[in-house]
Amino acid sequence: MSRGERHDAVIAGGGVVGAAAALALARLGLRVALVEAQPPVPAAGDTPDLRVYALAPDNAALLARLGAWEGVRAQRVQPYRRMQVWDAGGGAPLVFDADALGQPQLGWIVENAVLVRALWQCLPEAGVDVLAPARIAALAQEDDGVRLRLDDDRRLRARLALAADGGESALRRLAGIAAPAHDYRQSGVVAFVASERPHAQTCWQRFQVGGPVALLPFADLPALAPPGHLGSIVWSLPGAEAARLLAEPEVAFAAALARAFGGELGGFRLCSPRAAFPLRRQLAERYADGRVLLLGDAAHRVHPLAGQGVNLGLRDVAALAEVLRAARAQGRDLASPARLARWARARRSATAVDAYAFEAINAGFSGDALLPTLVRGPLLGLAGRLPPLVHALWRHAAGG
Ligand SMILES: Cc1cc2nc3c(=O)[nH]c(=O)nc-3n(C[C@H](O)[C@H](O)[C@H](O)COP(=O)(O)OP(=O)(O)OC[C@H]3O[C@@H](n4cnc5c(N)ncnc54)[C@H](O)[C@@H]3O)c2cc1C
Repeated sequence: MSRGERHDAVIAGGGVVGAAAALALARLGLRVALVEAQPPVPAAGDTPDLRVYALAPDNAALLARLGAWEGVRAQRVQPYRRMQVWDAGGGAPLVFDADALGQPQLGWIVENAVLVRALWQCLPEAGVDVLAPARIAALAQEDDGVRLRLDDDRRLRARLALAADGGESALRRLAGIAAPAHDYRQSGVVAFVASERPHAQTCWQRFQVGGPVALLPFADLPALAPPGHLGSIVWSLPGAEAARLLAEPEVAFAAALARAFGGELGGFRLCSPRAAFPLRRQLAERYADGRVLLLGDAAHRVHPLAGQGVNLGLRDVAALAEVLRAARAQGRDLASPARLARWARARRSATAVDAYAFEAINAGFSGDALLPTLVRGPLLGLAGRLPPLVHALWRHAAGG
């Protein structure tokens, strides 16, 4: 590879995590290039993005610090004030309530495309060099940095490279980092639905044999549903069952969904196409190799039952920005492999704990073995009657 343009950091992937990382590093005064395979996302229309997240308060605060939160609010976002988790087998629900927890809201429901667009709107003013559409084709690591070749033959040099190019990360592969995957043999079925009863700014999740079903309260879109009745569902199901439900007529799908929620939200009407994505746990063996770091789905993919996929990725960004800020303040080499390895170990351990915890909950609550079936409903009810435990669970989910 010949020598090319010099940046402090080159980031592969301009999804939520990569774009947030680009902004965070640029806000520290670093010279950043963002390489994204797709052209920028078009403006928000009446058709919402099927990828919808429950964004935790710490990550909304991160986006505010980066200057992107106003752009999110100007598009489409829904606060949620309550979360109700219960088991099909019976028992009291576990409820998180903003008033009881002394919070204005528990978090925000927001589409992937809205987040990406709001972040991208900030990139020019932050001075990020956006190279899109383009992909990284080759990587060479040297003592003081990395050299990269793009598929259009452009060359870049940088002190560090961040892989935020998703679960099938090409940069992770070029860095020689393995990422073994465990297939849950479940699919996540996603769609927008109108519920007969109002969503009441509540995230609803019901555990049942086969996998949990969740409804996130969505911002009002009068063309799709009456105000307060539009929801985004994520329904985890065994793969064959998901394929069968995707092929069902809309009315039959809606009836199955109403049964899956045990009638709690009344009947449903489908308001969008349905899609399914395979569910797997995937953890890269390490999140750093020399001066190449992995963030977001490039580093970890987790079960969606706790709605933490994108939240974990944004926490990777917040932690990295803090490490680099501290190095800068002390006048140290901010991209020293030893410093990056410490960040990588801390993030791998935090995300692995969460990934296996979500997996244990999914296994315990989705199986039909007699003992777990007998205890899981009462367990949720018991947890719900212990305010310190509710607070502790909430603090963890909120990134505290
Ligand atoms: C249908 C669907 C529904 C989901 N629902 C939920 C949910 O409800 N809750 C939840 O927490 N998570 C959900 N997820 C997972 C969530 O989308 C991911 O955790 C999140 O998008 C990770 O963000 P990321 O920026 O790391 O990766 P991505 O969003 O995958 O972004 C990667 C970016 O890299 C780009 N790219 C890819 N290859 C290259 C390359 N070689 N060079 C340059 N750029 C490249 C891509 O174009 C993309 O822009 C869902 C995923 C899907 C597919």
